[in-house]
Amino acid sequence: MDKPIDAPTGVPGEKPSGKPTFAYIHFAACSGCEISFLDNFEKLLEIMDMVDIRYMTLINDNTEFPKADIVFVDGAPCLQSAESVEELKKARENAGYLVSWGGCSTTSTINNFARGGQAPQPQHESFPPIKRLVKVDAFVPGSPPGPEMAYNVIRAFVKGDTDYLKYLTSYSVGGWACGCDLIKDIVENALCIGCGACAFACPTRAIEMVLGRPCINWERCVKCGACYAQCPRSFQPVPLMDRMMEEL
Ligand code: SF4
Ligand code: SF4
Repeated sequence: MDKPIDAPTGVPGEKPSGKPTFAYIHFAACSGCEISFLDNFEKLLEIMDMVDIRYMTLINDNTEFPKADIVFVDGAPCLQSAESVEELKKARENAGYLVSWGGCSTTSTINNFARGGQAPQPQHESFPPIKRLVKVDAFVPGSPPGPEMAYNVIRAFVKGDTDYLKYLTSYSVGGWACGCDLIKDIVENALCIGCGACAFACPTRAIEMVLGRPCINWERCVKCGACYAQCPRSFQPVPLMDRMMEEL
């Protein structure tokens, strides 16, 4: 697995004064990631205490996409739609810190199989991950990511917790991790605890738990990195454990 890249920009040195503003924009996707965000239930009130939600179609009526300190982008933009590409670029311009929220924006996931030719827009056939078009500050793969990830990311942004956010800037989580990274880094290093979170996170059902360990169906793996991101042991990679052992 590649090492996480540099700490994200925008926090904490450029932390906005006052209550940070938040916006959420949605491209091609099923809305499950937005629903997962809202599934924070009472913690949603805590999120609203932490940030001023200026734009989010399911919970407010604003029609103009505003400038915001932190922006979540959900879904994959369509390359054959100039409007969609322009909206993404505007979101990037307006964002202090841009988070790719969910599998479709991070790796395109099921949109990778789009072939166009369907009514009412037969010309719509390519839906790349957003990092192909704009700079992304953090990636949260998963279809959808768990509700707690929204809370954790916003809290980390507000608190300037770069240790937490740095992991989410990892190149692997940004779309290049494959099920084989999970096997190589976690299972083969005896770190797997058999929890099944990887299988649950996989958007294409490429992982089956056999005798308490994940087995990958390689033909189904779309290399989204969701299994790696959701694995509780990927936060304890071997180099870190080696360092801890040396300190004992
Ligand atoms: S095994 Fe599933 S979750 Fe893991 S990278 Fe492949 S498609 Fe994504
Ligand atoms: S999420 Fe990680 S620890 Fe849990 S079963 Fe999968 S590889 Fe093992």
